[in-house]
Parts: sequence; C-alpha cells; structure tokens
Amino acid sequence: MTLLSIENLDVRYGQFKAVRSVSLKVGAGEVVAMIGANGAGKTTLLRTLAGAIRPASGRILFKDKDVTALSAHERVKSGMVLVPEGRRLFARMTVEENLQLGGLVKRGGDWSVDRIFSIFPNLVKRRHAKTGTLSGGEQQATAIGRALMTNPDVIFFDEISLGLSPLVVDQVYASLAELLKSGVTVVLVEQDLKRAMAVAGRAICMLEGQVVLDRTMAETSRDEITEAYFGLKRGQRNDHGHGMGGAH
Ligand code: ATP
Repeated sequence: MTLLSIENLDVRYGQFKAVRSVSLKVGAGEVVAMIGANGAGKTTLLRTLAGAIRPASGRILFKDKDVTALSAHERVKSGMVLVPEGRRLFARMTVEENLQLGGLVKRGGDWSVDRIFSIFPNLVKRRHAKTGTLSGGEQQATAIGRALMTNPDVIFFDEISLGLSPLVVDQVYASLAELLKSGVTVVLVEQDLKRAMAVAGRAICMLEGQVVLDRTMAETSRDEITEAYFGLKRGQRNDHGHGMGGAH
C-alpha cells in the first residue's frame, strides 16, 4: 500500500531549483535510502516533505490525502516526522523534557519515554541532563527519540551519521535495528553507501535536484548507485576526486 506519494515536486530557493520534477512513491513499511552528493537536494526534499519548506509546484499525498498545504505541525499530527540534520534539540531543556515535547502531539501509539530509554539505554543516566551538554551520539539518540514520541507512520532521517564517530554511528544504527524492522516507514538520507545498502530495501539517488535512480536494493548494485551518484553513464566511472563517504 502506498503511504506517501510525491508528484512532480519542484522546490526553489529564489530562482534556483533545488528539487526538480521529483515524483516517487513510498510504500507502508518500506525503508528507503536517499543517496546523493552534497547539494543534490536531499535535505531540501525531506524538509519539503516535513512541511518546513513550501514547494513551488507539485503535490505531496500522505495516506491518500493531499498534505501539500499543511503546516509542519499539522503533518506531525497526521503521522509524518523529520529528524533533521544537526539534530536541533532545545539545548537548555533536559533529555526527558525534549522527549516529552514529542509526546505533546497526542497521537495514539506505543512510544513512551521508557520505551525510548529501552532502545537507547545510554540515555537513561542522562535523563535529567540538559541536551546542550550531551555528546553527539546522545544528542542524536534524543532527537530520534523525540521524533518517535510522536508515534509517526513515516519518519524522515536526515544524515543520522553527520558529525558522529564511526563507533557512535554503529551504536545508533544498532539501536535502530529493531525500529527499522518494526514496520514503521522510513526515508533516510545516508552518505555511507554500505550502510544504506545494509539497512534499506530501496535506493533513491538524487543528482542536481532530480531522481536519477529508484530501485530496490535487490535490483541494483553498488556500482550502479555509484554511477548514479556521480552522474556517470555505465562504465564511465573513475575513482578520482569523489566525495562519496563510505562508498569505497
Ligand atoms: P547536503 O548533503 O549538503 O545537505 P543535499 O543533497 O541535502 O546536500 P540540499 O541541502 O537540499 O542538498 O541543497 C540543494 C541545493 O540547494 C544546493 O545547491 C544548496 O546550495 C541549495 N540550498 C540549500 N539551502 C538553501 C537556502 N536556504 N538558500 C539557497 N540555496 C540553498
């Protein structure tokens, strides 16, 4: 069943089109990885889906309802939530207070502060710490927890790994393993191709604002994704001057 449907989406910053004619569908329970170079438009697309940016044209349908005109808050209430790049926590509030903010939308569901602590046990001892004093990994866990507290149907992760050490990224993904299998729909931006291929069932590659590849992981390959990432035709790949984190 299609949960999220994006039709001909264009997003501009002034004259510049950061997202161009993007159409795609995400099925309920899918885990989809968005892959693309810096500036490809991934963050812009996720922020547009979450309602932080208005598209110039196109439509976003969620559970068969047109949500294009809804505010970010209304979208959270309808079951879409973004874990933004850079985490954006309230630094002077505690971990628990940040988590409780997520619960304020009062959507029914199983997520509670205790359940968040059960998937991120490292946070328990930091429960009353102000989030400004946390490590990057603890902040990321809190940001994910705050999003889960809204009991989302779909969760958008923008670069979970950004600014975290490889060890901490491993820990965050290990904590998410259960979540990724739990049936919640996930769209995640992940620069590390190996990791993206391990956790997601489908890859969507963006290049200069457009979707250039949309395949299940079973139908595609590391080489094909790499070529889409760099905008190469098959066989044109060379390994110079790239910036693809974790691709090699
Ligand atoms: P990154 O991995 O660097 O976040 P991305 O694929 O998420 O890359 P976006 O951040 O969506 O890409 O940026 C897409 C394009 O839009 C880039 O060319 C970027 O410079 C431009 N852009 C992003 N935000 C703005 C803004 N607020 N004003 C003007 N241009 C912007």
